[in-house]
Amino acid sequence: MKSSVITFVFVVVFIALNAQEIKPPLLAPIKKEDLKRDVFNLADDHFLGREAGTIDEFRGAVWLVERMKEAGMKPAGEDGTFYQFFDLYMRRIMPNTWLKIGDKKLQLWKDFIPASLSPARLNNKEIVYVGKASPEELQKLELKDKIVAIEANLDGIATNISLFNKRFYYLIEDRYSEVFKEKKVAGVIFIANDLYEDSWDVMIHQTKRGRTGIKDFRNKIIKDVPIFWLHKGELDFIKNNNLALDAEIGVQLFKYPSVNLIGKIEGTDPELKKEYVLFSSHHDHVGVRETVKGDSIINGADDNASMCATVLAIARSFKKQPARRSALFVIHGAEELSMLGSRWHAWNPVVPKESIVCVLNGDLIGRNAIDSAALLGAWGPHRTSDDLVEAALEANEEGPNFKIDKSWDDPNHIEFFFFRSDHAPYARVGIPVLFYTSLLHDEYHTPMDNPDRINYDKLYKMTEWIYRTGWKVANAAKRPKYLEGVKFEK
Ligand SMILES: [Zn+2]
Repeated sequence: MKSSVITFVFVVVFIALNAQEIKPPLLAPIKKEDLKRDVFNLADDHFLGREAGTIDEFRGAVWLVERMKEAGMKPAGEDGTFYQFFDLYMRRIMPNTWLKIGDKKLQLWKDFIPASLSPARLNNKEIVYVGKASPEELQKLELKDKIVAIEANLDGIATNISLFNKRFYYLIEDRYSEVFKEKKVAGVIFIANDLYEDSWDVMIHQTKRGRTGIKDFRNKIIKDVPIFWLHKGELDFIKNNNLALDAEIGVQLFKYPSVNLIGKIEGTDPELKKEYVLFSSHHDHVGVRETVKGDSIINGADDNASMCATVLAIARSFKKQPARRSALFVIHGAEELSMLGSRWHAWNPVVPKESIVCVLNGDLIGRNAIDSAALLGAWGPHRTSDDLVEAALEANEEGPNFKIDKSWDDPNHIEFFFFRSDHAPYARVGIPVLFYTSLLHDEYHTPMDNPDRINYDKLYKMTEWIYRTGWKVANAAKRPKYLEGVKFEK
């Protein structure tokens, strides 16, 4: 009798405590009109495409920090601010770069594009024309200290990938890079094919920007082979003459800052508040480039003003109703330069790395069919945590009920999309991650990625899904466990 009374009291107290501590998610502060207003403002022409490593990126960042304050976040960056600065190491071709073939002087950017970023001086090097020879065929030739002239071709290259016209020249160069090194060639000429000729302006925009790294990630001058791209019209000249090449490639290396924006809303549990659910976005985009349909500003409404607006909306809800754990909001810089901001923060987090229980990253979350979306990092081999995936799938059922496209986690998926946004560096340092996205579209990285092209009902549903997942994890008794044996080589 006595013991059953004690049990009864215990059960009542237990239920009361639980009921008090684990509240249902609070959706009211998340409003479609707020999402829409924030996307329209951040993806306005005024910010000129927020290119990483430019003042435009900073202008967008400062604007966002004001919104983070308004949403109720406390600063969690450096020196009591919302900012975490890091240095970009930028390498670019200098205008004193020149090229002479036989007696013909070629003009930088107009007649040739230098595609390597190591300083080089080439004197009277013999040119060997090899047609469309494959890397295997080049293995059989004596090429030491010579210039190999190749007709660019798409043999062995996937053509049905996103941004093909911006990426194919890397792919062509990559296909040959091993053999160039092995055969110790002095340099390479690629003669454009029709496709390259059509993309010449795109390539100039791309190549002039050079290459950017951060400390410990591709910031050193890579000793790569000098590469020159020539117009299709030069083919006969190169093919029919025994020519020598002279050239100088000038490269400048300089530092420029970028910045992560970091705020937090503290949890209510005296112990669990020391742990963080990290909501992740990026504020930079790709700037002003070649004109398409009369517009050259690539506003990045979907990529990634959409998730920036979502982060603000989620913060408004956490402010009204905090969870047991704390929420950390990180809006990364320089994502478009190969996730440099998230690499930096994953390696130098503002809170102890062990205190970050998961990263919920969103990128491109406002497009495509309203009833479907993708969750990456949810299926093998990219899955990092069973608990986290379970929370996200439950959150989907309780909220937006999307049909989930699983195919993008396939390691053989042609886009390797899991490795292309800000959650990836965190996954590599042992933190459970998920990547929410409504996937690519034809207007990705074009001047047509504008706020009026976003489906705000869809964006609301994605926000709800990410918030509900975060709410579950932030209140759960146990943090999500990182699966043993997960390893990312890429
Ligand atoms: Zn993005």
